[in-house]
Amino acid sequence: MKDKCGIVGAYSNSKSVEVSRQIYYALYALQHRGQESAGISTYNGKDMSTYRGMGLVCDVFSNGNFDGLDGNKGIGHVRYSTTGKSLIENSQPFIREFDSGTIAIAHNGDIINSMELRSELELEGREFCSTTDSEVICHLLTREYSQTQDMIKAMQNISHDLIGSYSLVILINGDLMVVRDPMGIKPLALGKKDDLIMVASETVAFDVIGAQKIRDVEPGEIILINSEMKSFSLPEKSNAPRSHCMFEYVYFARPDSILDGKNVYDVRLNIGKALYREHSVEADAVMPVPDSAITAAIGYSRESGLPYGEGLIKNRYIGRTFIMPTQEDRETSVRLKMNPIKSELEGKRIILVDDSIVRGTTSRALVNVLREAGVSEIHLRIGCPPIISPCYYGIAMATKKELVASDKKVKEIEKMLGVDSLGYLSIESLIKCIGLEKSHLCTGCLTGEYPTSLPKNIEEYEANRC
Ligand code: AMP
Repeated sequence: MKDKCGIVGAYSNSKSVEVSRQIYYALYALQHRGQESAGISTYNGKDMSTYRGMGLVCDVFSNGNFDGLDGNKGIGHVRYSTTGKSLIENSQPFIREFDSGTIAIAHNGDIINSMELRSELELEGREFCSTTDSEVICHLLTREYSQTQDMIKAMQNISHDLIGSYSLVILINGDLMVVRDPMGIKPLALGKKDDLIMVASETVAFDVIGAQKIRDVEPGEIILINSEMKSFSLPEKSNAPRSHCMFEYVYFARPDSILDGKNVYDVRLNIGKALYREHSVEADAVMPVPDSAITAAIGYSRESGLPYGEGLIKNRYIGRTFIMPTQEDRETSVRLKMNPIKSELEGKRIILVDDSIVRGTTSRALVNVLREAGVSEIHLRIGCPPIISPCYYGIAMATKKELVASDKKVKEIEKMLGVDSLGYLSIESLIKCIGLEKSHLCTGCLTGEYPTSLPKNIEEYEANRC
């Protein structure tokens, strides 16, 4: 099961504070990270309560109905898996009663050796009720906790076994434990509003409730929050290189978030500017593929002096979950999502800016739409360098053979898409645009060189995912 998710944790020492509402708003702000299911678990000093459902945050919680979700500590989750069955059992937080209490876990990331870990746990006689990595982590953690009666030791002990990415919020017997994998592949930030401590995948979750960001959770850090807040380290923290996902900056995160000290909006403006410097061409206007490429197109326009325009209007009521079963349906769906403004396009030479090309389906269909609307030239500029290899750490992309750039050169893709020219941002420029050191970024999908070992059965693993 491949998850791209958003997580939230909230803790107040004041018994009168109900955190469910704050978590709800925070999840609302993280809705772009997952639209398949949403859930909240809270603890009121005595009992843990959980509510999970399929669909958008506002539908699952009927526009703010939190009946039964009482307590001053809690966690929340939004989930989006583009693969496998969309099942309520796989929604999160994942909760379990065990011999030493009750635990609720919400996870963003992908444990790439979870199939092996699960088989080992099953051999020990442990039963599973979902196909998520979170349940695997839950079994490992509760097994260790039952032996050590120490949550930090338990987490430190199991981290040796976990290969992949994990940002976690864990509610256990009234304590909130926050963990970020040693390489910090997925984002996670710490915030505060009065006596309320919050953690969230992105800082937009703090903005919505008026909380202030304190700092990012460090790669390899464990934070235990109860009557006080203490920081601990995973054993791998000191020797693991940081490896933040570059695709969060390019596409996945909201532009108004700040990830690991970098403003996503600025990164995308830089990407647009760099695209102009690397691939300039004469044209009449710069236009984005909305919404994800808007900021980069503004950057291109500012750097080139060419006017920014809107040639395509997006139907805002089609979410990222709108996934069609066949290639033909996927092509038709683009027309449902995007409609051209003929008067802005007729006879024009346009620079069309998009954030990324994965399979190439979207770009090809958009090119047809734009040609029918009468553009004279299309110069496609892509903010993400060619994606040549799958992501194993939580961005649901495609299998290697579906990735159009995995076996085609830029000129071949240009021809296949039917554009007058195609320019991808280079990896070196992208790294400069993000502003982090090259060695601190995961560029596995661009280079095929990954920050962790991969499972031996990677082909089987890939087949199961997609
Ligand atoms: P395609 O090339 O047809 O596979 O689609 C690429 C477009 O889908 C990009 O321009 C993005 O806006 C969007 N996109 C990229 N990665 C993902 C993803 N992991 N999940 C959903 N949409 C994505």
